[in-house]
Amino acid sequence: MQPNKCDLIIKGSYILTQNEERELIKDGAIAVSGKIISAVGKLSDIEQNWIADKTVDCGKSVLMPGLINSHTHVPMTLMRGVADDLPLLEWLHNYMFPIESGLTKDLVELGARLGCAEMVASGTTAIFDGYMYEDVVGKAVDETGMKAVLGEGFFKFPSPFFKTAQDAWDTIEALHDQFAEHERIKTSVTPHAVFTTDPDQLAESMELAERLDLLWQIHAAESVPETKLTLETFGKRPIEILKDYGLLRERTRLHHCVDVTDEEIGWIKGSGTMIAHNPQSNLKLGSGICPLTKFIAAGVNAGLGTDGAASNNNLDMFDEMRTAAMLQKGFLRDPEAMPAQTVLDMATLCGADFLGFKDTGAIKSGMKADIVAINMDKMHLKPVYNPLSHVIYSAGGQDVCLTVCDGEVLYRDGEFFSVDVEIISREAEKAVEWALKRLESR
Ligand SMILES: [Zn+2]
Repeated sequence: MQPNKCDLIIKGSYILTQNEERELIKDGAIAVSGKIISAVGKLSDIEQNWIADKTVDCGKSVLMPGLINSHTHVPMTLMRGVADDLPLLEWLHNYMFPIESGLTKDLVELGARLGCAEMVASGTTAIFDGYMYEDVVGKAVDETGMKAVLGEGFFKFPSPFFKTAQDAWDTIEALHDQFAEHERIKTSVTPHAVFTTDPDQLAESMELAERLDLLWQIHAAESVPETKLTLETFGKRPIEILKDYGLLRERTRLHHCVDVTDEEIGWIKGSGTMIAHNPQSNLKLGSGICPLTKFIAAGVNAGLGTDGAASNNNLDMFDEMRTAAMLQKGFLRDPEAMPAQTVLDMATLCGADFLGFKDTGAIKSGMKADIVAINMDKMHLKPVYNPLSHVIYSAGGQDVCLTVCDGEVLYRDGEFFSVDVEIISREAEKAVEWALKRLESR
């Protein structure tokens, strides 16, 4: 029988498929035609049945689905390290907001380009973002070759970015129109948080999400001080407000959910709302620990996110997976509380559901070719008993040697094929002076 033709064959020592059986293939290969995975299997079978224009042999490696970052603010790379060791509200009001109110489109684009390059090089192929000037974040995502759900953030009006609610709705709709036909980019409605908006605005923004059929994302119940502030302002807890205003829905995505009661977890589950877990940001800001195992036991879909680079301070999803696994074990004094497989599911399949991308998160035929490879030929990844263990507990983003999104090779062995990281890095250095000036003029 004549072999089939495909565009690309990727070879690796192991494939963590993330298919229904969570199958691990030893000495495997993936055939890619255009943007789609045509076949996955043993190298010998793939080579017998497929001929490719191009072959990428990753050598001693683990191939796995591209990681999905369910919560980030990608332009915040420019604020990495500008203010650390502060509680959430002080960090936001005294540092982030004064800097951010002076952001220009050019700076947001620069930060986004830096963040996208960082993520591509550390194995992330899709992100759920929220920030200002998301039209240029979309430009950076598009140029890098990744996937994203973009959300133009808004605060109580008037804000430095929008005088009126209508201004915000118009911008959100324009963003939607701009990317309506884009295959890799979708948009969402993105109020910042319950305590930085007001419930009527939230309800109005949900109407917009319904009309445009968009996901609706918000930071919610991130810390105890946030709950206190929300109680003082509105007489209710953050999740309670969302429930009472009918904002817990299937299209709702909640970030953090650290300070939540069992009853609130029940409401979130009952409504089909999904959550994103951001363990490193929660730890760094001293926000606390999300009762993640309760959410998972209740059947809530939970993605995993880094949050912005100013509260993490990197965008490395391998680092985040390791923390997610360790944190629940230590918190609950139970090493079985958060198995490696559950964490990898969060960063792949659950993330795909969270972003609303139905054709990514697993390596199987018919899915989009969103594939990354870990170089296992490193001291800290030897010997190999169980590749999944290394991916969660031993590897880091710096071990990624290949990133493919929609069948395009974006990154290989330190080389970027879609962006010029030298220019991006040089420009990013210049942002320091600007940010410090903003803080001086507070
Ligand atoms: Zn956030």
